[in-house]
Amino acid sequence: ATPTALMVGTGRGAQLGILIKGPEVLESTRKVDTIVLDKTGTVTTGRMTLLAVHTADNADEAEVLRLAGALEHSSEHPIARAVADGAVAKLGSLPTPEDFANVPGLGVQGIVEGHAVLVGRERLLREGAMELPEELQRAKSEAEAAGRTAITVAWDGEARAVLEVADAVKETSPEAITRLRALGLTPILLTGDNRAVAESVAREVGIAPEDVIAEVLPQDKVDVVKRLQGEGRSVAMVGDGVNDAAALAQADLGLAMGTGTDAAIEAGDLTLVRGDLRAAADAIRLARRTLGTIR
Ligand code: ADP
Ligand code: MG
Repeated sequence: ATPTALMVGTGRGAQLGILIKGPEVLESTRKVDTIVLDKTGTVTTGRMTLLAVHTADNADEAEVLRLAGALEHSSEHPIARAVADGAVAKLGSLPTPEDFANVPGLGVQGIVEGHAVLVGRERLLREGAMELPEELQRAKSEAEAAGRTAITVAWDGEARAVLEVADAVKETSPEAITRLRALGLTPILLTGDNRAVAESVAREVGIAPEDVIAEVLPQDKVDVVKRLQGEGRSVAMVGDGVNDAAALAQADLGLAMGTGTDAAIEAGDLTLVRGDLRAAADAIRLARRTLGTIR
């Protein structure tokens, strides 16, 4: 490869809103046949809003918002921001937790006003030997069938509420998927979120249900990439979160959303500056064209 052609490719990349770590990156870009896409913040905007609160008969809405909102206020997760903002909008202010911890891929836990509070996936509650009462189970199923994410809230050993949050697909995502397919790549949607929500996003952007890998814990995303590589595929991965960093580093080509976390940007080979997934297709086309002129 001539250095001049690679430099030109890199410069053209910058014009397209693609930052390339080094010219050698273009080489791996040429071979990729599979592109793994993180859902939240990559295919979707990642800006979630709190749409509804369903309480069991052991809690009232203000209490749920106060305790869950206080905990989520300490988390940076897009879902946490939706819950905290929704709670502040309703209540004005929130107490400060006495104790707080993130449980990666599952939610948050801590102490608020003396109560041991959990907010997150149903699995987080089940790990604490709690079950959702039937009314909350129903609210959760209905929310998920509608393509929303259902978050559960518990304190003092009892499930208390289901919160509905939703996140919109980026306007540019369906076109990006079409363009990636036109380049011969198979898109795969990868997420820690539940299958129903993941499939509803997949449907909206044109990814088949069998190409959805859902309910994957953050530390297991890298194993999904390894498994695909083990099948002989050359894998590109696009992500934005701290939880995507290891998978971005493992992929044959890591593409980070410029709108995402520093951890993702550091782990990636390329940065899509504007957070527009269409730039992923531009990057691959540019690499192929640049290297085509060299050979
Ligand atoms: P993704 O892979 O789509 O970016 P994550 O791995 O960050 O998602 O989270 C997976 C799931 O864990 C979320 O869909 C949500 O159900 C739950 N979760 C994670 N963090 C939180 C939180 N702070 N509050 C509530 N739920 C959470
Ligand atoms: Mg994400």
